[in-house]
Amino acid sequence: MRNALTVDVEEYFQVAAFERTIPRDAWEVAESRVEFNTGRVLDLFAAHGNKATFFVLGWIAERHAALVKRIVADGHELASHGYDHTRVHQFTAEQFRADVVKTKAILEDIGGVAVRGYRAPSYSINGKNLWALDVLQETGHVYSSSIYPIRHDLYGMPEAPRFPFRIRPDAILEIPVTTVRLGGRNYPCGGGGYFRLLPYAAFRRMLARVNEQDRQSGLFYFHPWEVDPGQPRVKDAPLKSRFRHYLNLNSMHGRLERLLRDFEWGRMDEVFGA
Ligand SMILES: [Zn+2]
Repeated sequence: MRNALTVDVEEYFQVAAFERTIPRDAWEVAESRVEFNTGRVLDLFAAHGNKATFFVLGWIAERHAALVKRIVADGHELASHGYDHTRVHQFTAEQFRADVVKTKAILEDIGGVAVRGYRAPSYSINGKNLWALDVLQETGHVYSSSIYPIRHDLYGMPEAPRFPFRIRPDAILEIPVTTVRLGGRNYPCGGGGYFRLLPYAAFRRMLARVNEQDRQSGLFYFHPWEVDPGQPRVKDAPLKSRFRHYLNLNSMHGRLERLLRDFEWGRMDEVFGA
């Protein structure tokens, strides 16, 4: 059973948790870490022989073309994370269409490959904006990985199916973030802060349960800034945001190595036949 390995390529200062602390016009002058950190991730995958899917912001691709080219040259899947991390619920349908069309064009131009996958910033597609899935399909995307079937303060659609589904038989394929079902509730086991919060062995058991009991492939996601304990500290952000962002960054690289060894991994398009 193979699982999909995915990386959301963005800077540490572009996360939703810091949006009130680091305004958009400060991005151009903030210290950039994404090329170095994603390089480390690519080195790690190369050392383990893993192929993955990289969901890249258009804003990043415009400034780091060499990185996009290396992702493709190393045999990974290039996919879209939108232009500048604006969450889907902040857009009208027309604005969303413009964002995903622009990002797909930037990535395809630089990468020289077709971009088929999309992941919404902060998993911001839910029951209130499922129209976004139709926009993705109309603009040439083949799959979306934008729904998190959990209850969470910032995102989530707890009633969504836990495994790949279409909202109509002819709709785009949605591949939700992996959850494990325990005691009638869905718990996250697809990465993010939870991967750094839980003991590694507990996380491994949860993902193994999805593979062995649900008989389904899972997907795992993380960000390049999660392997960067030396990133500049954002001191003015709310305590909860800082806790989530900085927790256990030191142990992340080692945890990833164990995860890569303990499971079989592949690209989204290959694992889910999208
Ligand atoms: Zn993101």
